[in-house]
Amino acid sequence: NATAETRQFEAEVAQVLHLVTHSLYSHKEIFLRELISNASDACDKLRFEAIANPELMAGGGELHIDVSFDKDARTITIADNGIGMSRDEVVANIGTIASSGTRRFLAAMANEQKADARLIGQFGVGFYSAFVVADKVTVLTRRAGASASEGVKWESDGQGEYTLEAVELAERGTTVVLHLKADEDEFLSDWKLRSLVHRYSDHVAFPIRMPKDAGTEDDTATGDWETINAASALWTQPKSEISDEDYQSFYKSLGHDFNDALAWSHNRVEGNQSFTTLLYLPSQPPFDLMMGGRDERKGLKLYIKRVFVMDAAEELLPNYLRFVRGVVDADDLPLNVSRELLQHNRQLERIKASCTKRVLDLIESLANNEPEKFATFIKAFGNTLKEGIGEDTANRERIAKLLRFASTKGDAGKQTVSLDDYIGRMQEGQDTIWYITAESYAAAAGSPQLEAFKAKGIEALLMFDRIDEWMLGYLQEYDGKKLQSVAKGELPLDEAAKQQHEEAAKAAEPLVAKLKELLGDRVNEVRVSARLTDSPSCLALSDFDMAPHFARLMREAGQ
Ligand code: ADP
Ligand code: MG
Repeated sequence: NATAETRQFEAEVAQVLHLVTHSLYSHKEIFLRELISNASDACDKLRFEAIANPELMAGGGELHIDVSFDKDARTITIADNGIGMSRDEVVANIGTIASSGTRRFLAAMANEQKADARLIGQFGVGFYSAFVVADKVTVLTRRAGASASEGVKWESDGQGEYTLEAVELAERGTTVVLHLKADEDEFLSDWKLRSLVHRYSDHVAFPIRMPKDAGTEDDTATGDWETINAASALWTQPKSEISDEDYQSFYKSLGHDFNDALAWSHNRVEGNQSFTTLLYLPSQPPFDLMMGGRDERKGLKLYIKRVFVMDAAEELLPNYLRFVRGVVDADDLPLNVSRELLQHNRQLERIKASCTKRVLDLIESLANNEPEKFATFIKAFGNTLKEGIGEDTANRERIAKLLRFASTKGDAGKQTVSLDDYIGRMQEGQDTIWYITAESYAAAAGSPQLEAFKAKGIEALLMFDRIDEWMLGYLQEYDGKKLQSVAKGELPLDEAAKQQHEEAAKAAEPLVAKLKELLGDRVNEVRVSARLTDSPSCLALSDFDMAPHFARLMREAGQ
């Protein structure tokens, strides 16, 4: 008998709704994946809370997700018996935007007419995708542990307002009813819904059920449900029994990605500490990767004995591997572990080191065996990987081995030359890896600093990514060879050249003196250089100067 209360969506929600409904029409069907994924999260949460509070599970039987439709009413219903929501939680979770990831997403999309569906998919804007196919959505929910009278009914047409009402609900959990738009009848089909569940949600770890008789003429449910997904934790199965297709479909539901994963690594470690890891490399970067963005809820999911505990990417992987998606299932961690405890947990440290090693192994195997995939990887994540040179001292050499650069002996601007390639081409007596940093490939490749190197046939790596200068600060040596900028230091000369250079310097003394006088304080020194062959002059740095590109970056940053 409580009256319905009408509320406004937060401004940003209206924005998300607008973006989602106008961008996703070519991927409409992901609403089902998103709603099933929420139902699965709700079951995960209940299972986890029930460890400390077993009475939460009382009544309601096995955790499951039910999908059904009603042709006459033109509705699709997704119901779970998971954790459910209280009235406050409904308001907080589906009337506002809680996720920092979504906020970043909005900021980035602010100027787009039509957001890239792929990005939206990666973001898993989740619940709101219901409004792509529905013009009215009803949510009925009751928090586990709450009484039947504490049910909540939420309803909205997705136009800026929603209503809230107290209702009597016999069971815990959440039921989402989609009232389909006029032209969305294709989803009112048993075959269609089943195939979508198979495509996107087969590896959800809870049973997804549909009415047995839904395909027949008279589709009033008889109460008989059948499970239509694999409903098992994929990573717990033996590798030999998992097909590539299974791995890919699990990746897509895990990573909210439309695209296939590039590669994966699935391992079981047995010993005094046992755990399973299933780690994926995506094939494309999320849009905010280089903004240093790290969506706390995208990355690695930590399970303990198959119970989902929390998203724990930061605890399980270093930041420079933040593009990795996957699952870690540990046997020996206490289930009541908190995030605070995780941050200082020795066992977890070991798992983290193991995940890091697995990912580097995986990238290395691509480099050695699958050049095309490796090239895709480098294009997507090469710059992120470079952060590891500074961040992960222990693995610096391994990471450096994986990096690829453009070079004076490479293929134009393509970043394909490894440090090992470079070393393999070093000239006799050369003990330095030379490089140049600049704003762009063209600026690096065309620099007069390189003339003498080119004339002598000495290769130089061409660095023009924003992060390179920072990275080189940590990469002073590789395989016992010094890395040095061509703008610093002196090119080593052989005896004949040395003599020639000295003579030239002597002959030019009056000119040098005159230039010094003219330039005054603006330079430290004017000298005859051996580094030029065609250009008459260039600016050089002493060993302790900041590279010009870096100095510019610092100025831009207001330093
Ligand atoms: P996300 O799943 O990424 O958090 P969504 O938009 O999909 O974002 O869902 C928003 C929030 O609404 C969820 O985080 C959850 O708290 C709540 N929610 C959605 N569906 C359910 C459900 N079936 N049971 C319980 N809570 C839910
Ligand atoms: Mg969701």
